[in-house]
Amino acid sequence: MELTIVWFYWKKSKNLKMKHYQFILFYLISNFIIYLFQGSIWLYLTWFFVFSMVVIWGSFDIQLGYFVNSIINKRTKIKEAALSFDDGPTEYTPKFLDILKENNTKATFFCIGKQIEKYPETFQRIIAEGHLVGNHTYSHSNNTGFLSTSKMIDEIQKCDEVMLKIGNIKTDLYRPPFGVTNPNIAKAIKKTQKKSIGWNVRSLDTVITDERKILKKVTKRSEKGSIILLHDTSEKTYNVLVELLLFLEREKYSTFTIDSIIKSEK
Ligand SMILES: [Zn+2]
Repeated sequence: MELTIVWFYWKKSKNLKMKHYQFILFYLISNFIIYLFQGSIWLYLTWFFVFSMVVIWGSFDIQLGYFVNSIINKRTKIKEAALSFDDGPTEYTPKFLDILKENNTKATFFCIGKQIEKYPETFQRIIAEGHLVGNHTYSHSNNTGFLSTSKMIDEIQKCDEVMLKIGNIKTDLYRPPFGVTNPNIAKAIKKTQKKSIGWNVRSLDTVITDERKILKKVTKRSEKGSIILLHDTSEKTYNVLVELLLFLEREKYSTFTIDSIIKSEK
């Protein structure tokens, strides 16, 4: 029984690129549970429960790299951070572009295909002003975590097509909607030859209403090489960005776009 579990997770750990320490953790937990329940039905139920919790946790925490190895920061010795904006372009994006331009700052925009179709000129402006763009699926479906591999491939490819048509641009960067990854999404990323880009500073700017709280959350967690996740979808985040740019200047941070990580790691 124990050997079966170990074999199962060893196999899974290879398939899913699970880190070794996670495997060891599984091994220890399984041993402990076996010791506690000595082969009763509760053993199986508890094990199933623990496994489910780990999988759910792993699907939602992009920093864990449970199913997909995502880039979550840049290894660097200098004070630099990346601003990344998800879910645009929107009616607010031009304001974001104005302030970035004023500050001579380049950012990375992970755009949704449907939104690009809605705001084609804004998308073109993002590119024209020297920012980097990445794929954030075509429709940013709420069911992203439950889509089949082929549906996920469709979502990524359709966004690629829109980007090419409207912006005459190709990208190999992909940011998972909601930061969700699972085996199907992992396969789709591989098939479409994308690099998954996460973050290590989450602003929660779509959840928290208090601008000061959002700003504090970001400034407290920012460090050398951080990738900061924001959304160009509200006036609120715009206000946060204004303050954040001042903070970065005060703290003598420079900014980088995500492609510089990939270039530096080649
Ligand atoms: Zn998103």
